[in-house]
Amino acid sequence: AGGNRLHIFSDDMRVKVLERLDAEARLREALAGDPVESLPVWFQPIVSAATGEITGAEALVRMRAPSGEILGPGQFIPAAEETGLIVPLGEHVLRRAVHRLLEWGDQLGYVSVNVSPRQLAEVDFVPMLANLLAAHPELDPSRLVVEITETALLGFSVDVRERLEMIKALGVRIALDDFGTGYSSLTWLQSVPADVVKLDRSFVAGLSADPRKASIIQAVLWLARSLGMSVVAEGVEDPADWEALRELDCPSAQGYLFGKPAPADEFGAKLRRAVKQ
Ligand code: C2E
Ligand code: CA
Ligand code: CA
Ligand code: CA
Repeated sequence: AGGNRLHIFSDDMRVKVLERLDAEARLREALAGDPVESLPVWFQPIVSAATGEITGAEALVRMRAPSGEILGPGQFIPAAEETGLIVPLGEHVLRRAVHRLLEWGDQLGYVSVNVSPRQLAEVDFVPMLANLLAAHPELDPSRLVVEITETALLGFSVDVRERLEMIKALGVRIALDDFGTGYSSLTWLQSVPADVVKLDRSFVAGLSADPRKASIIQAVLWLARSLGMSVVAEGVEDPADWEALRELDCPSAQGYLFGKPAPADEFGAKLRRAVKQ
């Protein structure tokens, strides 16, 4: 480009940039328009090992494209994070989660909501959460769980521990997401006032055929228990892995074996069927 400037601009990069701009534009439009319709929040069951019943659910956001196609979070969460739109998006997801918790009442114990680093870094996050709970005094705040990852917090200068303590003081529970990936450490486990540890899928899958994985999970279960934390094994697809997890006394699990993320109405119908049985 003249002088000492060199531009490397491949077709691949061009496509990525365009996709990102597209995701951002769609997201802005969705948030400004009718987010309940265009950013539906789906739910995936979390089951208890002791009873096999659905005790909770994770709220997972989707985007409905104008064509009607449903996009997964991988297609718009990165753009949301980069642009800061994750803040209003995350608030929308929290509101929908609270709405469903009230709708489903005692048919569902809790809903777990992903909270991104950027959201947590906002000074307004805790006040927003406090206002949301204050607007719904009929909701037991411990039925709401916020999921955070360690990566999430690297690079932010907020006093994370203090902020998490404030969330806990509201009565909301905290879960460490993706535990056991390269991004989560024992330091994290001891520095965060968590109630729940979510074991990452990468370390749950194939457990029944891998004694080393089983040993690691056993150790994490023991550690979590001695720290007073509960555990959810994520990404359970294989009945043999579920069997192995139960043998290790893992208290609960989530994964395709029990149900994929589903639209709220579908999930609600499943809950009602479960109650009738
Ligand atoms: P995550 O928080 O680790 O959520 C679990 C992901 O694993 C979900 O993907 C879920 O559909 C998938 N999953 C569950 N069980 C199984 C299984 O048995 N096998 C396999 N292969 N996958 C399984 P999803 O819905 O595509 O979400 C991907 C990620 O997007 C989430 O990972 C989370 O990091 C992010 N995300 C989703 N919703 C939100 C949100 O509302 N806010 C924020 N900040 N992030 C979100
Ligand atoms: Ca999660
Ligand atoms: Ca996870
Ligand atoms: Ca994740």
